[in-house]
Amino acid sequence: MTILIGIYMLILGMVLGSFYNVVALRVPAGESVIHPPSRCPHCGTRLTGADMVPVFSYIWSRGHCRHCQAPVSMLYPAGEALTGLLFLWMYLAYGWSMQMVIGLVLISLSVIITIADIHVMKIPNRILLFFLPVVVVLVLLFPFTSLWSHLAGGIGGGLILLIAALASRGGMGMGDIKLFALYGWVLGLSSMLVALFAGCLLGLIVGLLLRAIGKHGKQQPIPFGPFLAAGTLIAYVYGPSIISGYLSLFA
Ligand SMILES: [Zn+2]
Repeated sequence: MTILIGIYMLILGMVLGSFYNVVALRVPAGESVIHPPSRCPHCGTRLTGADMVPVFSYIWSRGHCRHCQAPVSMLYPAGEALTGLLFLWMYLAYGWSMQMVIGLVLISLSVIITIADIHVMKIPNRILLFFLPVVVVLVLLFPFTSLWSHLAGGIGGGLILLIAALASRGGMGMGDIKLFALYGWVLGLSSMLVALFAGCLLGLIVGLLLRAIGKHGKQQPIPFGPFLAAGTLIAYVYGPSIISGYLSLFA
């Protein structure tokens, strides 16, 4: 049964991931996510069912449009595969529970803002405003720590990034601040701190690696949203065990 639901979660994630790609690319451009239907950006041919099977269409067509042979960005199948694997991971971590459902919502928000932040270097307000009432209500109904901790996580997360933004003068956007306030509310105070630490560490490592292989100029900013998202998902699943492990060092 676990395997069956696991496969189902993987497929569900890949299908939704395909939709999240569309949302992440169209919303910052002010376009509707439903209309017009997806087309090849190169030849304009309307995509049919066979072109839109997550991950597999890309593999079958060897990464090219079936009609004009123009190459298709790797980011599409990557976003689909990533969403599928994250959905499977969340199911394996929490089983069939409300915590899994909230985890799936977190993954959805995280995948969309990651794709948007990589493409246009911004976290669209409309995405945050869509998810805000959803996570506020879910946490109010199913808090996994005290509501004070959730509140402190949200306010604290936003404040810390606001101070960092003021100190770095433009290194961080308002989008990052609002996003992390939202994440902090879901995580609660202590896991929010784990998320911040993990996100900064990941950002530092990836930033240094990109510079080492010469893919990134010194002055070129790296979007921070994806690292906040990764840190948040790590803290959402492993935060409590990371904190108790850390505290046991002093016991
Ligand atoms: Zn084409």
